[in-house]
Amino acid sequence: EAIKEAYSAKNPESKAAFDEAVTVLPGGGTRKTLYVDPFPLFITGGKGQHVTDVDGHEYWDLAGDFVSGLYGKTNPILRSAIMEALDSGIQLGMHTKKEAEFATLIRDRLPSMELIRFTNSGTEANLQAICASMHYTGRSKVAVFSNSYHGGVVADFYPGGARANEPGSLTLKVPFDYLICPYNDLEKTRELVNDLKDDVACIIVEPMQGAGGCIPGTPEFLRGLRELSKAIGAVLIFDEIQTARLAYNGLQGVYEIKPDMTTIGKYFGGGLAFGAYGGRKEIMSMFDTRKAVHVKVGGTFNNSIMTVSAGIAALRYVMTRPALEKVNTLGDMMRAEIMALFAKLGAPFEMTGVGAINEIHCLLPGPEGLSGQHLLFFGLLDKGIAIAQRGLCALTLLAEEGDIHRLTRAIQEVLEGDLFCSI
Ligand code: PLP
Repeated sequence: EAIKEAYSAKNPESKAAFDEAVTVLPGGGTRKTLYVDPFPLFITGGKGQHVTDVDGHEYWDLAGDFVSGLYGKTNPILRSAIMEALDSGIQLGMHTKKEAEFATLIRDRLPSMELIRFTNSGTEANLQAICASMHYTGRSKVAVFSNSYHGGVVADFYPGGARANEPGSLTLKVPFDYLICPYNDLEKTRELVNDLKDDVACIIVEPMQGAGGCIPGTPEFLRGLRELSKAIGAVLIFDEIQTARLAYNGLQGVYEIKPDMTTIGKYFGGGLAFGAYGGRKEIMSMFDTRKAVHVKVGGTFNNSIMTVSAGIAALRYVMTRPALEKVNTLGDMMRAEIMALFAKLGAPFEMTGVGAINEIHCLLPGPEGLSGQHLLFFGLLDKGIAIAQRGLCALTLLAEEGDIHRLTRAIQEVLEGDLFCSI
């Protein structure tokens, strides 16, 4: 409570902005992910890895817009691609050659996406991929995993991270016919899926659970799902909306698994609203408008020239193989350094993740765990570092080794502070 009072006192303008916003937006915003108890910070803008809030404080945004902010707040290459597109006509309403160019660049990285459709968000990409699997198989069950998040389509988690699971929160779900299986438990999943094998249209999985707390899937589990879905004739969908940035060919490249369909989004749009799904030709051909009978999906802004241009620039010049290698190596270093700190201090915390996407979990059970998580969040904020309240730390392409050491030092200072010693 003391720390929240100090936070309120330090941020009167954010508090006022929030009080105003709740009169017109439920919860004061349009993204539940951004909510912070007692109120989130309101920012005026950002540059590089930093944002400035309405009270004039500057923060290193280490939540990295929940992994989509891969490029940081500014990038001259993306900016000129967007400005050029803007000058060519803000919304063209007809095809340009750039759509196929963009799709080809995506397929070069993720060959499982043999044919590709664009959307405006990851949520839509998953929704349409799941629907495609239902049309393709003529079946209706959707196998998903405990603690997963696939956007506003389906989620089975409480936003506090995997280790702070609290039942009772409602998540928005498209009312598909779900079969919820335990993540990383291949035996149990096999049992559940095999029981209903003639009904299962798809198995949709995050190769690393993102919103559920940065919980990596084991290679054996993911490879097992490949075999299982093949054996029963269901479509395996890899939701790589978060994880595609963890390696040049996504996590599917690292584990050498070719799913039937893949969904992507976030940073692939070069900083603008984007999602895409793609997969085997036989499945994706159902969307082929030349066919007398095809699955009809429109999407006014699906070929937005702004997004397509920004995406092409991002893939060609910014989210390059060396850039991804650098940031993900730094992320692995960060996790090792911070885990070593927790061990040295005997602090009840751990950091989980892969490459540059990681989450800090307080291992204390119940309310103490939540307090620990919040004290760390507010403590770091006070030192100018904004991780996500649930503990997410997602590095941008601008991160440098010195940033990691700065974070480690700041965590140590917070954990050795008076408030922490009191829990
Ligand atoms: N799938 C995963 C794994 C995600 O992390 C997200 C967003 O965080 C989505 C889907 C939804 O994407 P969007 O927010 O663009 O709808």
